Amino acid sequence: LLRADGRPAQTIFAEMTELATSTGAVNLGQGVPEDGAPPEVLEAARAAIADGRNQYAPGIGVPALRRAVAEHQRRWYGLDVDPDREVVVTAGATEAIAAVLLALVEPGDEIVAIEPYYDEYAALAGLTDAKLVTVPLRRATVATLPPASGADPAPPRFTIDPDELASAVTDRTRLIIVNTPHNPTGALLPRETLAHIVRVAERHNALIVTDEVYEHLAYGGTHTPIAAIPGARDRTITISSAGKTFSATGWKVGWLTAPPSLAQSVLMVKQYLTYSNGTPFQHAVAVGLGLPDAVFEGRRQDLGRRAAKLADALARLGLDVARPAAGYFVCADAAPLGARDGADFARTLASEAGVVSIPVASFCRDGSEAGRTFGTWLRFAACKHDATLDEAIARLEAR
Ligand code: PMP
Ligand code: GLN
Repeated sequence: LLRADGRPAQTIFAEMTELATSTGAVNLGQGVPEDGAPPEVLEAARAAIADGRNQYAPGIGVPALRRAVAEHQRRWYGLDVDPDREVVVTAGATEAIAAVLLALVEPGDEIVAIEPYYDEYAALAGLTDAKLVTVPLRRATVATLPPASGADPAPPRFTIDPDELASAVTDRTRLIIVNTPHNPTGALLPRETLAHIVRVAERHNALIVTDEVYEHLAYGGTHTPIAAIPGARDRTITISSAGKTFSATGWKVGWLTAPPSLAQSVLMVKQYLTYSNGTPFQHAVAVGLGLPDAVFEGRRQDLGRRAAKLADALARLGLDVARPAAGYFVCADAAPLGARDGADFARTLASEAGVVSIPVASFCRDGSEAGRTFGTWLRFAACKHDATLDEAIARLEAR
């Protein structure tokens, strides 16, 4: 976690947020939503605080939230989850990822992840002395796309090559980390890709850890949880978070669902990380998970509209835009604007245009194939008010 000059490396999100603050740039960097949580969820938090639910929650999470998570998995995906033995509430998805890796990975084990990847996976692979093996996400060509279905107006723009995945996973692989919907690209992994991952995991007896924090933000297709694929359930740990679904990233309420023995192992580590967190917010999220489908639908559609607006504007400016199917972000290649290096170009945009983005190469390893493919790509957050997006677009147009 040190940089070449020996100083501790900040995450790219902290670095770019500081840059936005110090320069007064519009911050489309870190995925910080500007719309609020649904009023019912905010009210439930206020009520929980007023009712005195302000002390330690049980390490495994308050019963109301564990029941709500189990009910949520049944209602949306038809999955049967035991709230007392198969759900662990965590301090955001961040803690879930950390606890899972610390609990289940031994030094020397291999972890397979799709690259670009959310930066925490590599940091935790480092902390556990595991070897991270990556499979590059490739831009889909028409020939590699699965047949379009009526439910998928925006076909996936990125895919993984089944052979590349099959050769990355070996008997040394302890776990495969899946992230769908995907940060940063906004790709939704199609069912057949997920089924392939499950078959490969079965062949090598690997576990699957799936980060599905954007599960309710798929506006260009349907999110399929990998746990719903036949053969997956007994080897899969599914992670999600209220931060994204309810635009409450500061509450840091996440959870995982897993078979009892895996959930128990993770809980043993989690109790020494935070023990527990955010008792009143856990109660509020339990209320949120029970809200009617229309609430989730409205939020998804509204984000999709804003992502489309940002994608259209970036395309008009000449960037090569990969329209997202889900999630908070729009990724685009700035090479057509003359970019040679994403990080340099992100700094240039911050100083010249006053708009902060994140270079996609920060989600890649130095020198990797994905790092080269995405070397001139930028990620822009669309989870902002229309006024913020309009201001950013105006500044980019004026540059
Ligand atoms: N995984 C992914 C893919 C994310 O984008 C994020 C949030 N930026 C997290 C995990 C962390 O979630 P949380 O804020 O709930 O810790
Ligand atoms: N998940 C957020 C993003 O991708 C950042 C979270 C963080 O700052 N660690 O922007």
